Formats: sequence, C-alpha cells, structure tokens
Amino acid sequence: GPALRDPASPPDWYPDGLAHVWLPYAQMKTAVPPLPVVATHGSRLVLANGRELVDGVASWWTACHGYNHPHIAAAVARQLRAMPHVMLGGLLHEPAARLATRLAALLPADLERVFFTDSGSVAVEVAMKMAVQYWINSGVRGRTRFVAFRGGYHGDTTGTMAVCDPDDGMHRLFHGLLPEQIIADLPRDEETTAALERLLGERGDEIAGILVEPLVQGAGGMLFHDAAVLQRLRALADRHGTLLIFDEIFTGFGRTGTMFACDAAGVVPDILTLSKALTGGTLPLAATVASRRVFDGFWSDDPMHALMHGPTFMGNALACAAANASLDLFEREPRLDQVRAIEAQMTTELAACRGLPGVVDVRVRGAIGVVELDRVDIPALKARFVEAGVYVRPFGRIVYLTPAFTIGTADLARLTGSIVRVLSMR
Ligand code: PLP
Repeated sequence: GPALRDPASPPDWYPDGLAHVWLPYAQMKTAVPPLPVVATHGSRLVLANGRELVDGVASWWTACHGYNHPHIAAAVARQLRAMPHVMLGGLLHEPAARLATRLAALLPADLERVFFTDSGSVAVEVAMKMAVQYWINSGVRGRTRFVAFRGGYHGDTTGTMAVCDPDDGMHRLFHGLLPEQIIADLPRDEETTAALERLLGERGDEIAGILVEPLVQGAGGMLFHDAAVLQRLRALADRHGTLLIFDEIFTGFGRTGTMFACDAAGVVPDILTLSKALTGGTLPLAATVASRRVFDGFWSDDPMHALMHGPTFMGNALACAAANASLDLFEREPRLDQVRAIEAQMTTELAACRGLPGVVDVRVRGAIGVVELDRVDIPALKARFVEAGVYVRPFGRIVYLTPAFTIGTADLARLTGSIVRVLSMR
C-alpha cells in the first residue's frame, strides 16, 4: 500500500538518490517516486521493504531468461577475471569474435558482418550511417533520407528520434533539431502500398533505406502487422533500389515466437539491428548486422570507404561474454516453446479484459500481451498494480506484458489476473 509509494523506512541511499538521480521519461516533480529495488531473481523484483513484485516488463523486455541466470553470471564473472574490456581499435578478442560468428550463423542468408555498439539507439544510428555511406561509397549521391513508419520507435538519440512516429509526442519538442525524414503508413493494404510505391517513385533517389520494426512496433504502441507487410517492403525496396533495414531490438531473440521476426516473415533485410535481449538483459550491448552486399560496399582500397564509427566501449568483453552465455541458453533450453506457452496462456487469460470499461483491443503475439484502452490514468494504474504485487508499466493507452520467457504459469497468471482486476476497477 502507501508504504511502498512513500517508503516509511527507505534504505539509506534512497533520499539522496532521489535528490540526485534524473529518471527517464519522468516529470520529477510530480511522478510517483521510484520503487527502491535491492535485488532480483527469476521474474521477481525484490523491494527494499522485502516485498516481491512479479515483473511483467522484464526491464523493458530484455531479461528473457529471467533475472540472475547462473549461467550468464558465471560467464561474466569468468570474463571479468580474464579481461573486462579492451577497445576494438586494432584489437579483437574471443568473446566478440565468437559472438559475431554465432550471430552470423543464427541470422538468415548472408547477414554476416556484425558491428557492435552499446545501445539500441546507437545500433540504429549506425544502421543509418551504414546505409548512407553505402550509397556514397557506391558513387550514388544524395541518398540521405529514410522512410520510416507511423507507430514506429527506434530510439531517443537525434538521428533515431527523426525516424520515430512524429505524432507520438515524446520527441515533438526536438523537431527543430532533427533531420527531415519521411514517415509513411505501413503498407498494410492496397491503398497504403500504392502510396508507398508512389513515394518511392517520386523521391527514391533521396532515400538511403526503409527502416521498420518487423511484425511488432514496440514502444510506439505495441502495434502488430503481418509478414505480408514485410514481404511488400522487401519487394518495394528491391524495385526502387533502396536498402531495407529491420530494427529487431524489440523483436529479436524469440519475443515474437521465432528467434527473429525476419524468420517468421521469410524476409531478409539488408541491415538488421539487435540489442535488449542480446545479453539476456544483463549488460548493455547492441549489434548492427550487415549483409554481404552492404559490407562489400565498404570493401575497398580507399580508406575513406571505411565505416566511420567507433564507440569507446563497443564489443565490451563482459557484455559479449554475457551474450554468448545467453545464446547458450537459447540452444540448451526450450525458450521458443516457453514463448508459445506464454502466448497461449496470455491469449486465454487476457481475453477476460475484452468488454471491460474502456478496453479497445486485446492482442497477443509471442510473449507480448497488449490491452489497449481508450485512455489511461497512468499514475493511478501503476499504483494499483504495485498494490496487487506486480510490476506493470503502462504507457500511452497501452497496458502490456513482456515477461521473461522463464516465468512460471503461476506468476504469469498473477500478472494477467492483476490486469483483469485492476482494469475492472476503473
Ligand atoms: N529500437 C527499438 C525497436 C526499441 O524497442 C528500442 C528501445 O526501446 C530502441 C530501438 C532503442 O534502444 P535503446 O533504448 O537501447 O537505445
């Protein structure tokens, strides 16, 4: 109850922390104060007062194996003793080498060249720079814009804000700072496909690439589309000679039911971005993976044709060791079966939200469960979820679940049951 929102005896670091830490997306004056969390295990957050919350979000859908998986912890500890970090400037180490090799083997076709960064936003920035420079290296001038889609979200940096849905609100303040990009409707039907075809016909020579979150647009609204949309995008990109970029930062590593969304769609993009669950949610790491065609555009005797990017901590050895351990778990444990079981359970249990006041839609794909409302009083909802013993973080008009794939049926039922109960109280 209220003791959680205003902890009666918070840990000693909490008051000073509140005075000095600037939290994301939060009006610091009016936001419900953050919950002091002291430990995690499995699908649970342990609060300072000893209470445990079932985590429905998996820390922005990263912790796919649950928290504190011993296999990842052991791999990171081993790597910490051997070599926590060296730059990739002129050096290469085993964790990065093995990880790149394994990602190339897992991804379809010739997506085989991996550029490491530290966050999803930067992986998308790199994908954009890669596409722009690919055309420059190929002697084609003027292809500096991207087609991205309404409902899309690709990050919070300057380059990526410009390819997010402009009406989403979260980046509107910064429009003056952002390069002009082209935001279109996804080609869901004949009309939107024809519109995109027209756009590419008219402005194709400005366009470096088409950027899309395949199958599920995540932070822009948890919107689903089917494989046919991606097949149309592939055909349009080919017909108009532009690159196709899949941002799989949300969808990668099983979240939608296959290892990557592109597998389900049977579509191979030219560039693909990964992050979030890449390390099982333990350490920051991202990857921008290029097809052979794109990499060949940089293969030259001209030093100016090199990819001009190089974050200090790229390919951090601890993060790569964590990612390798995470891939071990995907090999050894039935993660995709677990996703199917979660999908089935959420489909059954969230159906009870249909017909509740203000519920506009209920949709489930893989380990993503979404209840869309006509409006949301977010602070009130958040407080009720905490009272119910779950951590669910609604945004926009969306209440969603992206649990760990290892969540048990009882904890998942606790999450879905809390959503049904809390939404019944509105
Ligand atoms: N792209 C997609 C599809 C995402 O879901 C996110 C994060 O939510 C990002 C990019 C940005 O990643 P990061 O927050 O690591 O910068």
